[in-house]
Amino acid sequence: MIYLDNGATSSVKTSAYEEMLPYFTEYYGNPSGIYNLSEKSAKAMKDSREHLAALIGADRDEIYFTSGGTEADNWAIKSTAEMLGDKGRHIITTKIEHKAVLNSCKYLETKGYTVTYLDVDEYGMVRLDKLKAAIRKDTILISVMMGNNEIGTIQPIEEIGRIARRHNILFHTDAVQACGHIPIDVKNAHIDMLSASGHKFGGPKGIGFLYIRKGINLPSFIHGGGQESYKRAGTENVPAIVAMGMAAKEHKANMGSNVKYVINLREYAINRVLREIPYVRLNGHRLRRLPGNMSFSFQFVNGEAVQVELDMKGICVSTGSACSAKETTPSYVLMSTGLNEELAYGTVRMTINEKNTKAEIDKVVEELKTIVFKQRQMSTEYKEMINPYIRYGRRR
Ligand SMILES: *Cc1c(COP(=O)(O)O)cnc(C)c1O
Repeated sequence: MIYLDNGATSSVKTSAYEEMLPYFTEYYGNPSGIYNLSEKSAKAMKDSREHLAALIGADRDEIYFTSGGTEADNWAIKSTAEMLGDKGRHIITTKIEHKAVLNSCKYLETKGYTVTYLDVDEYGMVRLDKLKAAIRKDTILISVMMGNNEIGTIQPIEEIGRIARRHNILFHTDAVQACGHIPIDVKNAHIDMLSASGHKFGGPKGIGFLYIRKGINLPSFIHGGGQESYKRAGTENVPAIVAMGMAAKEHKANMGSNVKYVINLREYAINRVLREIPYVRLNGHRLRRLPGNMSFSFQFVNGEAVQVELDMKGICVSTGSACSAKETTPSYVLMSTGLNEELAYGTVRMTINEKNTKAEIDKVVEELKTIVFKQRQMSTEYKEMINPYIRYGRRR
């Protein structure tokens, strides 16, 4: 099997997996307890928090564990609205956010808040002049993702952070695709809140965290016991927290070499596809993109059919993103970059990480070539384009 869908989820790193195992059966104490067994769990959580904080340039007590990226996004957006609803009820975000952000904003619209959804350019970049123009007296939050899950575009986060800070507006970023994969410095980028998810960087599913800058008294989203400094109730998922922390520690230690390796492999793959397959477009920004992300739109081809055929060869890719894979409308992210429907439906996303190899890429490109050429041979539009004098039995 060749797995090129790390943007949907990744396998748990071996070190993270091994680190978490004793916390199921040996060190199973509730971290809130006061005996020795519990202290073992509490200490493990503290270490994990430290590794995660180090990964994004935060302090340990600014990391709050959640059930994943979706909860972190919901918490940041809805609780900011609750906290600052008296000050203002306007939020700025973009048209290409993950559904966890978009639907949290949609929900707030039903509660009397107004949301501006910023357009992006053909590369998926937010334009800073449009952002500045959207700011109002009653704007309380700017939420712009760091790296896009479908097309990989990395937003100008430092500039956005500076603009938000200058206008005294809180800045949240969904960094689920970026965290662990590119260097992040929350202080330098003036980020007030940042969402991340364990399973997107070699940790388990169902665990994530929200970074909340010290000094922001974000209300609790899940009420109950006093866990996470009274901000997120519920007995902590200690094994998953331990594993996520270990994955973070590894990413921090190998960031430079991993980024270099993955970008080189991606560039090799992109260059081969663009050179060897005609009528194809690379989505997203050519350079400002997540190291592991490639999104191609093939003309005269159905992306879903390509995905199915690759699957029969043991190759896992996706069309848009996993979360919208069940939808029948073309991807709103791709459409926001100005793609027409035909190209949007011809899209294949491949997301690699440091575990993938050049041999795997070679195999995938060869299979992709065969499948795309085969599909085009069945496409009347394609045949008429390359030979406009022949009508292939189509009635006019
Ligand atoms: C996967 C993803 C999420 C959701 O994270 P979960 O931990 O799966 O809930 C949010 N935002 C982005 C950009 C993602 O890629």
